[in-house]
Formats: sequence, C-alpha cells, structure tokens
Amino acid sequence: MLTTARLITLALLCCVLGHSAPQPVSIRPEPKNIRTQTVERLVQLKPPGADDSRYYYIPFDVPPNAVRINISYQYDRAKGANTIDIGLFDARSTGSDTDPRGFRGWSGGRRSEFFISHDEATPGYLSGGMPIGTWRIILGLYKVAPAGVDVSFKIGIETEENRSSRPPPAPHKSGLSSAGATTVSAAERGTRRTSSPQKAAGRSPQRWWRGDLHMHTVHSDGNWTVAELISSAQSAGLDFISVTDHNTASHHVEVDRARARAPQPPLVLRGEEITSYGGHTNAWGLPSGTWIDFRVRPGDAARMARVAAEAHRSGALISINHPFALCGGCDWSYDKSARGFDAIEVWNGAWDFTDGLALKMWDEILQSGRRITAIASSDSHRAANPIGQPTTHVAANALSQTALLAAIRQGRVYLTGEAARSAVSFEAETRTGRRRSRQMIGDEIRFSRAPAMLRFFINTEGAPPEATISLISNGQVIRSLPARSDGQPHVIEIECRQDSYYRLEVRDKTKAMLALTNPIYARIGKGQ
Ligand SMILES: [Zn+2]
Ligand SMILES: [Zn+2]
Repeated sequence: MLTTARLITLALLCCVLGHSAPQPVSIRPEPKNIRTQTVERLVQLKPPGADDSRYYYIPFDVPPNAVRINISYQYDRAKGANTIDIGLFDARSTGSDTDPRGFRGWSGGRRSEFFISHDEATPGYLSGGMPIGTWRIILGLYKVAPAGVDVSFKIGIETEENRSSRPPPAPHKSGLSSAGATTVSAAERGTRRTSSPQKAAGRSPQRWWRGDLHMHTVHSDGNWTVAELISSAQSAGLDFISVTDHNTASHHVEVDRARARAPQPPLVLRGEEITSYGGHTNAWGLPSGTWIDFRVRPGDAARMARVAAEAHRSGALISINHPFALCGGCDWSYDKSARGFDAIEVWNGAWDFTDGLALKMWDEILQSGRRITAIASSDSHRAANPIGQPTTHVAANALSQTALLAAIRQGRVYLTGEAARSAVSFEAETRTGRRRSRQMIGDEIRFSRAPAMLRFFINTEGAPPEATISLISNGQVIRSLPARSDGQPHVIEIECRQDSYYRLEVRDKTKAMLALTNPIYARIGKGQ
C-alpha cells in the first residue's frame, strides 16, 4: 500500500442533492424518478517507492436504489510523464491488492470516463447489481512524474425512486466469484467438428489448425470488436483465436454470444492478458466471466506463480508474453525459468530483436531440461497490426478448446509469419527391429541405449529458395540447409548420444524468422 503521507487527499467536495434539494440533474432523459448525486474529488499522487503498491484506492459510498454510476477523471498528462490507469471495485471489495472480491472492471489508461449500470456498462466494465456500501475506484500508477500529479474525479450516482419494491438483479457473475472457484462446464468441453471428422483409433489422427492467441478489443485498449476479430480471422484463414483483453473479463459475454451465433470457425477462446507493471501473461480458455487478478508487484515471483496456479485451476493455460518488450513494465520481471507456465510468446508481431531475446530465453529453458511451448501471436489492437501475423499452428484431433489446449501444452505447435505461408513439416523416424515409426513435433522418443539413430524428414513448403533451415539441438545449430522448392523433404540422419531436443528455425536471407517449430524430444534410458 502507498503510505498516506505520499498520497494526500487535497480536497473533498461532496454535493449531495437529496429529496429536499433543488431540482436534481438527470444525465439521461429516461427513465423517470432518477436522481443524481455527484461527488467531486481531487487526489495528489507521488511516484510510488520501490516497495510501495502501484495501486491506489478511492472509496465512495453507493446508496440504496442506485441504478447507474458515471465516473470521469482528469490529470495533467505532462507529455507522457504521467499515465494513471483506472478501474472499479464494488461494495464487496476491501481495498486490498490481494482481495479479488467485487471487481467491476478496468480500462487502464484508455478512457477518461466510464459508467456501470444493471444491464449495461462501458466496455471493460461489468454490468450487474449495484450493492449498497463503499465502492472503490482503483488507480494504477503506471507513470507518475517526479513532482507528482493531481487527479480530479467526478462520481455521479443515479438512484431510482420507488425502486425498493423490486429485488435488485444479481451482480454480474464475474463480480461474484473469484476465478479459482469457477469450473469448466460440459458445454466448454464440447467438441466442434470440422468438415473432415476423424474417429479416435489408438492415437487419433491429427491435423494442423491455424490460430492467433493474443489480441485486444474495445474492452481494453484495442479498436476491434469481437465480431470484427472473427470476421478478420475468417479472412486470414484462421481456425481459432483467443481474445485476451487487459485485466478484465467484460469481453467474455460478447465471445459467448459470438460462439452461439457462429458454429463454424474460428473457434473463439476466452482469455485475459494479466497485465502487471512487471510483465504480462496470457490465460487462454477461461470459463465465462472468470477474471484473474493482475495486481502483482513487479518481481514478486511467488505471487505470479499463484496467478499461474489460479489459471490452471480454472482449466486455462498460461503463457509469458513478450518477455523483452520495450514498453514500460512490459518485460518479464518474474521467474526467468518460467516454472509453472505452459507457454512463452517468443514471437510477438513483426519479428524483431526482442523476439530474438525471447527465443534465446526459451532455448535456455529447454537446455535446462524443462519443456515449455513456444507460441507466436499478433497482439493485434487494430487492423494496421493484422491478426494471424504471426500464426500459431497447433496439431489436434479436433477443433475444440480442450483438444487445442492439450496440444499446446504438449508442444504440438509450430509458428509462421503468416497463416498461409511456410507450412512446416518436421517428423522423426525411428526403427525398432523391422518396425518403423514416425514422431511429430511435441513427441518424445525413448531409446533404451545410446547412441541411437534418428532420421528426420523436413519440409518447408512455401519458404523462398534463399531461406535457410537450421536444425537446432541442445543450444547448437547441428545442421544448416537451404530451403527446397521441389516439394521434396530433406532427410537427415542424426546420432543421438544423450537426452536431446531437436527443433527447426527457418529464416530468410536477412535472418528474419519465417517459421520455427517446437522440439521433438529424445530420451535415452529405461522405460522404452
Ligand atoms: Zn502485453
Ligand atoms: Zn497484448
């Protein structure tokens, strides 16, 4: 918590227009019997110290029969020296950074005003019940100039006369339960069959599905609506997308509606980009309305581990996003070995050196013997930053949330710059006596003794002839090959002497990434 000495409430002007007061101001012409009370506040914020919370709470009281709350705030942006994020908790909150109760939305630095009512709210916020008691505006101190900043607020609370005879509607589900309590419904587990349904027989036949796991809508700082994302995904030939707005679950209802309306691809997963000031993570496949608390202090690896565990309890996967991104607070300040995480975003938007650093971090994790899946995503906020660039390809036996998440966890994933470009095929063949078997990306091959022979089949369809394919194992490039344009695979034999992982990178002549795969793993020892 910030010390009170640092945060001084300068003025508190409370102007309550009661029944006997002059004619109340109604912001909207409808309905009748609406009265508005407006509270104005001014707070002075100082830059938080290293051990201070980056969140600050402004309590205000909500009376009986409230039907709508309008909040606006202003401060001197001082040419970017100040950025104050905003969100809202209702009367169930306690003002503690570790108590998730009462969450009602977050708009970060995107909006200077928002509202909440029983049945509507500004995107980013959750409509629903208006419990009586102390609500709290939450401010996120993203950037505060050394001299501090004054922030002024207007809080307008509309009450409806004679409302007491009607029971208030239940608050929005997300505001009622903390994330971990929600379970995956039967419908969530349902499978969406494609035009070529495949029956499970032993190992079910797999096919590659193309998707993008990271994007934003008007529910946070994106310009897309959910419907626009779906239409854009269809144009880009994507089979699945995950909508991952920052620090809110308000987009889930729209995702649910879209899923009900459109039975054909893309499959849309509910997500959240849990956006702390010390790094970002994506949860994919959250139950509807499940919100995961983002108030993790930079460097607090133990709390971040609890965030990952909470995502897992809700049935979702969790990924480290853009660990070396240059925006303030976007780089990863938590456990660099990514324990407890399922995936790492090694490719965010157009390939650049920060992706190269993420790739190196991932490879070092693999060298340590831990397995974590590399993924790529557009992090699209608007059409200028198209979705599916780059694309994550996932091998699963059906286009369902369950099948996709299981396949991502297992590493049946490769990445390309665009959905339609540079399909990669990477398989290993092993022989046991006369029997040959093929393994794919994400598989583990077990040999009873070393050395063992491995034969790889590599095909990079659509890669330009000047592209180079690198076969990488245990931190080293062990083969470098030109891309072939005749459609024939490269066949390479490798002697495997120790536990190893084998993965591919395909780069153009400028060394920019065109495609990369997750590994095929080889293990020497007992248990074959
Ligand atoms: Zn991010
Ligand atoms: Zn993002």
